Amino acid sequence: MKVKVDADTCTGCGLCTDSCPDVFVLDGEVAKVKVDPVPTSAGECAQQAIQDCPVNAITEG
Ligand code: SF4
Repeated sequence: MKVKVDADTCTGCGLCTDSCPDVFVLDGEVAKVKVDPVPTSAGECAQQAIQDCPVNAITEG
């Protein structure tokens, strides 16, 4: 799978980088995806991050 973060929507809350640090990293006030594609081992937490993002800034694809 691939995920992306909409930098205009992300608030930099840090939820995804805390819950799935293998995939997301905070770059200043915006989360970035650091692996593309997401390794299978991190797929579950990436999916969870998509669901948990309070502003729906993470999308798959
Ligand atoms: S959970 Fe959403 S708003 Fe928070 S840092 Fe991650 S992408 Fe940004």
